[in-house]
Amino acid sequence: MNALAPMPNFADTLTNVSLPAVQRDLRAFVAERDWAQFHSPENLAKSISIEAAELLEEFQWGEPRDDDGVRDELADVLTYCLLLAERLGVDPLEIVRDKLAKTREKYPVEKARGRSA
Ligand SMILES: [Mg+2]
Repeated sequence: MNALAPMPNFADTLTNVSLPAVQRDLRAFVAERDWAQFHSPENLAKSISIEAAELLEEFQWGEPRDDDGVRDELADVLTYCLLLAERLGVDPLEIVRDKLAKTREKYPVEKARGRSA
């Protein structure tokens, strides 16, 4: 993987692993270690930010030399996002789609196409 190169057929690279299966694995991982006691919404939100900073660190001096590091830090961010969604009792895919609908309204194609602000 080259972290900066877009994947031309990204959808074709997705595995068949389902979100519920990953959520089950995460739940089991946490339960086996009795770590849920540390997973307050505040701690999970802080962890998302900390892991996002670690992801950014991979790009600190330009293109990352270690693509595995980018993958690992992105995984950490996603993991804490999934844990927080579960802790809050929200469906992570549903809230992404709901927010996308709001963003579509805020940035209609005819006004936003090709513009970053
Ligand atoms: Mg990390």
